[in-house]
Amino acid sequence: MSKSLIYSNIKHMRQSQLFTKTQKDALKDEVSVNAQLLIRAGFVDKLMAGVYTFLPLGLRVMTKIENIIREEINKIGGQEVFMPTLQPKESWMKTGRWDAMDDLYKVKDTGGKEFALGPTHEEVVVPLAQKYINSYKDFPFYIYQFQNKFRMELRAKSGILRGREFLMKDLYSFHLNEEDFNDYYEKAAKTYEKIFQRAGIGDKTYKTFASGGSFSKYSHEYQTVTPAGEDTIHICNKCGLAINEEIRAETETCPNCKGTDFRKEKAIEVGNIFNLKNKFTKPFDFKIKDEKGEDKEVIMGCYGIGLSRLMGTVVEVYHDDKGMIWPESVAPFKVHLISLGKNEEAEKIYADLQKKNIEVLFDDREVTAGQKFADADIIGIPYRIVISEKSLQAGGAELKKRSEDESEIIKIKDLIEKLK
Ligand code: ATP
Ligand code: MG
Repeated sequence: MSKSLIYSNIKHMRQSQLFTKTQKDALKDEVSVNAQLLIRAGFVDKLMAGVYTFLPLGLRVMTKIENIIREEINKIGGQEVFMPTLQPKESWMKTGRWDAMDDLYKVKDTGGKEFALGPTHEEVVVPLAQKYINSYKDFPFYIYQFQNKFRMELRAKSGILRGREFLMKDLYSFHLNEEDFNDYYEKAAKTYEKIFQRAGIGDKTYKTFASGGSFSKYSHEYQTVTPAGEDTIHICNKCGLAINEEIRAETETCPNCKGTDFRKEKAIEVGNIFNLKNKFTKPFDFKIKDEKGEDKEVIMGCYGIGLSRLMGTVVEVYHDDKGMIWPESVAPFKVHLISLGKNEEAEKIYADLQKKNIEVLFDDREVTAGQKFADADIIGIPYRIVISEKSLQAGGAELKKRSEDESEIIKIKDLIEKLK
């Protein structure tokens, strides 16, 4: 189950051993750029609309994103759990969402008993917390997980940006007073900024005021600007925060700085943070006696990030007409080593990179140079090293960044130092 463990241990791979292959042609039934590129490069496979298999290269990316999020959420006290997908109808009846939630998948067993496939996990985490927590001294606490969510999305046309089954990090915080909640909410907001920065989309991701429903004035979305976005945001030119369409319709001024000058952009919601107040603790009657022995209602916040959506967003933001351009922090490998013709030099460098713990995909296949270059471009690993007769004659290996056009010849003995 723990992908993170598997993939942090495997740092190198021979492309000849990779069971997936790249596909040259555009796919007829895919309109989104992220799905086109990810499928053609062998990162994901489409099982049906909105449902994807994550293949070795794609799973490596997903795992890196997962580990960035895990590290940052652990730093703000999150305790990781793994809650079930299959959930009892009774809990969903209790909160009213069995009938109110349009995109809820409902399943029935042969005896006619009904279940929900979790689209989110408040109905599980609240009764869970309630079982273990019985003193005000236990507050605050924070529970999170990485888990597949199921939602009956009608418009599953955006590739992995909008799955019917998709991976989410969901964090839930529990508090006994508003002030404590606010402190944590601010901490979570800072943590989200760090996460998006580390994942390479920080500069394009805007903290965005959204409506908080009937329970609090605002919630916040984290919106990444790209033409592929389904949402529209209005970025305040004065303070750099944004407001979503709904809030824009209700206000002329920026809720943060009172600015009135906005620019409009398409964006993808990669995450959000939300004040739930007592919305889910009340139906479960989750109360705790405080110092004075008086009953206090537990209040909550919830904090989501769609990992598969984030991965698709990175593709939408970083690609060119040849393929994907991964930021180093989430790339499947750091280096794509390509040998042209049989040469021992490439094998040696492959061994050296392994020794130095530098992640490398080694294209040792017997295919044409043209195919190797085209594959390297679509796969989009940040550094490409080519070892050929030509490069050796020129004095070493040819090193090129995927994000740049120019390559340079590096002496083989200097290569590792250059890549570290
Ligand atoms: P949207 O408005 O895009 O449908 P949402 O408001 O339903 O999103 P939440 O329920 O708050 O989203 O889920 C938390 C996070 O999960 C979102 O910020 C997004 O990153 C991700 N997410 C939501 N729906 C999907 C989906 N169908 N596929 C992939 N990721 C999703
Ligand atoms: Mg939704």
